[in-house]
Amino acid sequence: MAKIHEIPKKKECPSCAFEVDSNETHCTICNYEFPQGLNLDWKKLTAIFLLLVFIVFIFRLL
Ligand SMILES: [Zn+2]
Repeated sequence: MAKIHEIPKKKECPSCAFEVDSNETHCTICNYEFPQGLNLDWKKLTAIFLLLVFIVFIFRLL
């Protein structure tokens, strides 16, 4: 009956190897700033999606 759905995502700090919450933007130990954009980069996804739609549209015209 144990719910295993809500496992908090952890990421390892490359500076001090401490596991911090994936929501954190800075390491709680050494204050290392994690690079942004890996989690839910919808702007990039939208750009790729639009590019794919554009390519499909072009191929349909050919
Ligand atoms: Zn750290």
